[in-house]
Amino acid sequence: MNKAHLTQWGGCAIITPKMTVPDQWNTLEEVARGVNTCTGCRLSQGRTRGVPGEGPANARIFFVGEAPGWHEDQQGRPFVGPAGRFLEELLELVELTREQVFIGNLLKSRPPGNRDPLPDEIDACRRYLDAQLRIVNPKVVVALGRHSLARLCPGQPIGKIHGTWRWEGDRIHFAMYHPAAALHQQSLKKVIQEDMLKLHLALEAAEKAEKPEDQPGSPQQLSLF
Ligand code: SF4
Repeated sequence: MNKAHLTQWGGCAIITPKMTVPDQWNTLEEVARGVNTCTGCRLSQGRTRGVPGEGPANARIFFVGEAPGWHEDQQGRPFVGPAGRFLEELLELVELTREQVFIGNLLKSRPPGNRDPLPDEIDACRRYLDAQLRIVNPKVVVALGRHSLARLCPGQPIGKIHGTWRWEGDRIHFAMYHPAAALHQQSLKKVIQEDMLKLHLALEAAEKAEKPEDQPGSPQQLSLF
């Protein structure tokens, strides 16, 4: 596989609201403390533990999943159940470990019964993700699944743009199926593995680029994550 196999997104129909980045948090630890005491939405009432996300402050890749599940809620850590084990397998494919990447979610508290996030919950929680992205400043942000992708590029179905990417300022945004999708639908496993190889190429592209506008076909900058 070479860079010719990387495909850029085009034509996002809707631009998401302007990112709000609170200044009160300057470290990941401060963000985590904010999450663990947060009562910003109804999910605070049913959670066991907040799940801020984890990874080094200088991570090059930042994965954004949906929300904590049962295992994550119990341990206060992201992606520690079966989907997390598959994510670790995917990282091994490109010779990475979970300690080298940042892993987070749109929501930092578990929705009851693992239901889908509600729009007002995503809005209430976005300040934490915004702050983490500002602090980590990764080269590549990976939307895992349709809810995360809805913030990256609303109106684009994951089934259409998984494994593709677009420039967002000086970083790349990349779309992938959520690892849990492969647990429910075995046929997606190979698709996700192939997308992980493309993600590695996207990382190389992001690290080599001196200026995003130097890339041919660089799309208009959007306010997304
Ligand atoms: S989901 Fe986010 S906004 Fe809601 S209680 Fe948890 S940390 Fe706060």
